[in-house]
Amino acid sequence: MLSHAHHLLETIFGHRGFRGEQAEIVRHVAEGNDALVLMPTGGGKSLCYQLPALLRDGVAIVVSPLIALMQDQVDALRQLGVRAACLNSTLDAAAAQSVERDLLAGDLDLLYVAPERLLTARFLSLLDRAPLALFAIDEAHCVSQWGHDFRPEYRELTILHERWPQVPRIALTATADPPTQREIAERLQLEDARRFVSSFDRPNIRYTVVQKENARRQLLDFLEPRRGEAGIVYCLSRRKVEETAEFLAGHGIDAVPYHAGMDPALRLANQHRFLRGEGVVVVATIAFGMGIDKPDVRFVAHIDLPKSIEGYYQETGRAGRDGEPAEAWMCYGLGDLVLLRQMIEQSESGPERKRLEHRKLDALVGYCETMRCRRQVLLDNFGETLPKACGNCDNCLSPPESWDGTEAARKALSCVYRTGQRFGAAHLIDVLRGADTERIHQFGHDQLAVYGVGADLDARSWRGVFRQLVALGLLEVDAEGHGGLRLSEAARPVLRGEQPVLLRKESLRKGRRERGDGR
Ligand code: ADP
Ligand code: ZN
Repeated sequence: MLSHAHHLLETIFGHRGFRGEQAEIVRHVAEGNDALVLMPTGGGKSLCYQLPALLRDGVAIVVSPLIALMQDQVDALRQLGVRAACLNSTLDAAAAQSVERDLLAGDLDLLYVAPERLLTARFLSLLDRAPLALFAIDEAHCVSQWGHDFRPEYRELTILHERWPQVPRIALTATADPPTQREIAERLQLEDARRFVSSFDRPNIRYTVVQKENARRQLLDFLEPRRGEAGIVYCLSRRKVEETAEFLAGHGIDAVPYHAGMDPALRLANQHRFLRGEGVVVVATIAFGMGIDKPDVRFVAHIDLPKSIEGYYQETGRAGRDGEPAEAWMCYGLGDLVLLRQMIEQSESGPERKRLEHRKLDALVGYCETMRCRRQVLLDNFGETLPKACGNCDNCLSPPESWDGTEAARKALSCVYRTGQRFGAAHLIDVLRGADTERIHQFGHDQLAVYGVGADLDARSWRGVFRQLVALGLLEVDAEGHGGLRLSEAARPVLRGEQPVLLRKESLRKGRRERGDGR
């Protein structure tokens, strides 16, 4: 069987050998067994069901959540001479009928179908009459209610197993933190399936995190030496996507926006330009990317903090799928943290969900603030241990220096306290540095003992201090209100001078003037 698989791999897909565990997965599924495959983005998941689909009699039904991605996959397969088709809401009745005829006649190797379509009584009864090779459930993490791509219909996919117990199933995902892994197995009734867990390390991706000063400017500095390279810039909001794309275009960068609120035709056109063009930068919300198969994405930049490590890893995983060096660059500041805390707190979610989201955010902040090898921290999160520091992240390449921030921390905490525990970092920094602003006069903050006591540090360093105090849990964000900072219980020993505080030195930025609101 494997020699036949290998033959197909070469003649149809044009690859010389299998990657990682592909061969074993293909054999396992082709022999009629269930599998749960956890492989990082770009690892080569598609072949794990496409080859068994060709090796087994009948048609493979591939459940996939995104219509755009389905069409791309089907087009690519057809070009290779594989009999593939998809069924989704974009087909007109005649086209859908013709696909159904092919299905029943056994003239298809693979049929991609959206979950909501699959679950219709009509389609299920069609499947009763079709020769089935296997079921593949792509992006299987969509079954997880805690994930960022939750699709309720995925929960109902157990019907496949109940109705056709003899047909093998393979579920695939690039999201593999252990709780999600367990949830997938449980929800899809794949507890007994063999698990194939690849290493999630992407050694060719270099990870970097910088303190946010003036995000656009910093982004432009980052992009400048990378002109002509394709990349993705992620932003939190649609408005920011538009503004950033415009800003970059204004500086001669071939940048296009992408978000869910755009005119669908324009959005698709932008996606195609990115996929087919050279050196196009797509500025996007996280709506962009699931299943985007572009091997030569050279960088993924985040100018806003994502919501979790899993999300971050999946987004950055779109870089360097060809194995060539690539960059994951993030620019983050206290403002991001405040904003995300507020978004969580002010959302409709219940208290349990909110707690979970805060915890996920904590983990991501831990990653941003770490002085350890970033890759080690990332992989830790996926339950994987990297024995040695990677040598290919900012912390490995230029180890961060720490400094004794005890005195600065006391000044900062005391400034928070004296001003009534309701202001944001920008104002607090003005007070510490003895600035002459209207706000300071309005509140009489120039009369406080802390006024001007922090003139020895520049605003940028103070932003680093406040950000780290929040990250360390010494300060809390008033996320239900205006995002002001207040002391936590843990701040007391520091204020009393009983506990030293070690802070990370903000690495020096290259050139460019000092401006920005610390966000
Ligand atoms: P995933 O779905 O895991 O993100 P894909 O299945 O889209 O990854 O594969 C990523 C890229 O790797 C594709 O361009 C694919 O053609 C390529 N690829 C997959 N398997 C192999 C292999 N065995 N040899 C060479 N290239 C491969
Ligand atoms: Zn490292």
